[in-house]
Amino acid sequence: MDEFRLWKLTWREVADIVGETSAVLIPVGSIEQHGYHIPLDCDIYTSTYICERVAEKSLLEGVKVLVAPPINFGVSWYHMGFPGTITVNPETFIDVLTQICSSLSRHGFKKKIVVNSHGGNTSTLQVFTNRFYEEYGEKIYLCQWWDLASDEMVNIDTPMVHVEEAETSVAMAVGMRVLTDKTVREAFDRRAALKEHGLPAFEIVKYDARHRGPYINTPMDMIHHISESGVVGDATKADIAKGKRILDATVERLTEFCKQLGEAKR
Ligand SMILES: [Zn+2]
Repeated sequence: MDEFRLWKLTWREVADIVGETSAVLIPVGSIEQHGYHIPLDCDIYTSTYICERVAEKSLLEGVKVLVAPPINFGVSWYHMGFPGTITVNPETFIDVLTQICSSLSRHGFKKKIVVNSHGGNTSTLQVFTNRFYEEYGEKIYLCQWWDLASDEMVNIDTPMVHVEEAETSVAMAVGMRVLTDKTVREAFDRRAALKEHGLPAFEIVKYDARHRGPYINTPMDMIHHISESGVVGDATKADIAKGKRILDATVERLTEFCKQLGEAKR
């Protein structure tokens, strides 16, 4: 049985492979604006792509990894100023994930990794994985390409906020429909963009995902308050080679982790 998409199997085929499955990957993302140049499904497309490549690579190495049906919707309230964005609140997101993961656990799939490509989901996913462990005694791991390939991010020169250099490069590398003639540099420096729009901005507050040094956290801004296109950063600096390096490192390392997780006792 070479098929790794859980939803394409019959229940008897699923029953047959529970014992030999090293990990179930759960793709998580969003349906939200990604500037003038990338469709709304950017994040869930990327997560699903990563999961499927990991499952294929694992299979070649004799390790069975399953992919759960992608969870399209995420926490995207701050993109609601742009048509097409669909958001669910954090409580709903946690509730759905808890019920999906407890269903999988009930059928014997105890080793699970959530693969996320939407930064706006991260804090909710952290609450979810902690709470799931508390309630069910099972650790669900959280994988995000910008964390797993953090060393490959050295080639990214510009701030990382939304659909900028890094994310557009990854979108190009996964073969998504990227309108390269529509890329823009906008709200390049989020702090400056806030000031420009007459909103409070501070030196010590973290406005860039890659900000280093002392900082104070802030919620995300309503993107339409600071950017007309929806881009926060510089999408014009994206290139496929940078994205490919990030992606290759992510797939390689996640495949290795699935192998280790399969060998772990519990
Ligand atoms: Zn995105």
